[in-house]
Amino acid sequence: MSDPIKARCKCGAVQFTANSQPLIQFVCHCKDCQTATGQPFAGLVFFKRKHIEISGDLGQHLFITESGKATSRDYCVKCGTVLFDQSEGFPGIIGVMQEWILGDFDFLPQSHVWVKSKLDEIIIPEGAQQFQENILQPK
Ligand SMILES: [Zn+2]
Ligand SMILES: [Zn+2]
Repeated sequence: MSDPIKARCKCGAVQFTANSQPLIQFVCHCKDCQTATGQPFAGLVFFKRKHIEISGDLGQHLFITESGKATSRDYCVKCGTVLFDQSEGFPGIIGVMQEWILGDFDFLPQSHVWVKSKLDEIIIPEGAQQFQENILQPK
């Protein structure tokens, strides 16, 4: 078995360990991700919740997405780093913001989602799967 995948927030108070390989990886161009990360898009790596461990104190920012699903962004209460994304649209799995994964993790997104709110200057690589909205609604 390969080494666990680890992530942590900027200050190190929140630690994440995954004891399995990612289920799915994608780039999200939605406005919520743009706001949460302060970047043009977010890279998200999803794992089954039962395969991960999280330590440290998290705050939750809950909201309803454009698709009407309750979603939370979990952040470190000390430094404010947004680390995790959970949605009732994806029960039992948790998304980790790729930028906080440690080591030489290869981020290999299969898909780009919420392409309808993508910033014009972001060019999606040819051949990548694209969804105008979330991943359950092919364009
Ligand atoms: Zn922190
Ligand atoms: Zn998003």
